[in-house]
Amino acid sequence: MNQNLTTDRQTFVTHLECSITGERYEADQLHGLSRAGRPLLVRYDLDAVRSSISRNTIEARPTDLWRWRELLPVRHTSNIVSLGEIETPLVPLTRSGGPNVLVKDEGRLPTGSFKARGLVMAVAMAKELGVTKIAMPTNGNAGAALAAYATRCGIETIVFCPDDTPEINVREIAMQGARVWRVNGLIDDCGAIVGKGAAEGRWFDFSTLKEPYRIEGKKTMGLELAAQFGWKLPDAIFYPTGGGTGLIGMWKAFDELEKLGWIGPERPKMFAVQASGCAPIVRAFEAGEEHAERWEDASTVAAGIRVPKAVGDFLILRAVRESGGQALAVGDPAILKAVDAAAKQDGLLLCPEGGATLAAYHQALNTGLVDEDDKVVLFNCATGLKYPMPEAPQALDRTRPIDFDAL
Ligand SMILES: *Cc1c(COP(=O)(O)O)cnc(C)c1O
Repeated sequence: MNQNLTTDRQTFVTHLECSITGERYEADQLHGLSRAGRPLLVRYDLDAVRSSISRNTIEARPTDLWRWRELLPVRHTSNIVSLGEIETPLVPLTRSGGPNVLVKDEGRLPTGSFKARGLVMAVAMAKELGVTKIAMPTNGNAGAALAAYATRCGIETIVFCPDDTPEINVREIAMQGARVWRVNGLIDDCGAIVGKGAAEGRWFDFSTLKEPYRIEGKKTMGLELAAQFGWKLPDAIFYPTGGGTGLIGMWKAFDELEKLGWIGPERPKMFAVQASGCAPIVRAFEAGEEHAERWEDASTVAAGIRVPKAVGDFLILRAVRESGGQALAVGDPAILKAVDAAAKQDGLLLCPEGGATLAAYHQALNTGLVDEDDKVVLFNCATGLKYPMPEAPQALDRTRPIDFDAL
């Protein structure tokens, strides 16, 4: 068994806190949103963490997500159902990106996307708190990760996705043991069905940020980056933003690391990347608003960031503004061009959402928001293998003479 999981232990969680009012909530109880209808954030006794471990302790452990266990909420490691949550590599994107561009390739995680980070944590906590039935709206990857982890520990799952969700996502969800329904609407329409069933007591609502622990799982992206950069951080991070869990989680991670004294006060500029066909956060950022209104008629090839309304909108906007970054929109043609460039020039197959970050990087470079010397991390959040690719129809008849010069 993974050494990072061999000892059962107590968590350092002290309580949970409403992200808008600061109201306190008890640990070790099942929570959804706060009474104000906003996400709950998990708080730790960081002084106790500091006196119990150091950066060296972390570095001596195997490089996976569980090396960070003191900064994670699970109380009993026996509740963790691991599928092998590795530390993802930083891959240089020299030609299609530039000399200082690295891709954090999250496609290598279980179920092929970074949704595994959030769901491995949320499912472990659901198990710890006695949940037996979960429902979730998804654009694809979250449903797949939920299905995998929940099935593995015997929790029943029902998943609702827009009827134009990538076919492979719908099938992987079903294959991994969830009941999956295609709904003629968008992800927030699916969320309304989940909310209705939850209000009737039929299941626990696992929508993005409506339970507190997915952020904690996604936070490990920020923890990993700090360790991978030698306890410094890059100059800029480009994050494809739907519900924004990862961006919020990384921002929280940096804060906790600074309080531990493991990093300094410097922060990367955080760029929240959206598609022009669904850019509620960009619109709110540009208008100077604290919250983002729903985006009507949302449409983009990048299904993972087709989120018309995010419950953590103000947390995304706050992090982006505090960091000196910006919210950027890129069009579908630029997204597809970026995916093509990374594959053809650098041999790295990005998902469309990952392509969006590369397109946004070039936009930021052209408008002077970053420069070529800046150390930049782009997030490729899922394996490119899950998405449609152009046909390659050439065939060879081996029984006829072959024109080798034409191959
Ligand atoms: C979920 C998802 C996103 C958006 O992530 P959030 O943290 O929810 O904003 C981006 N890309 C892909 C492929 C996804 O599955």
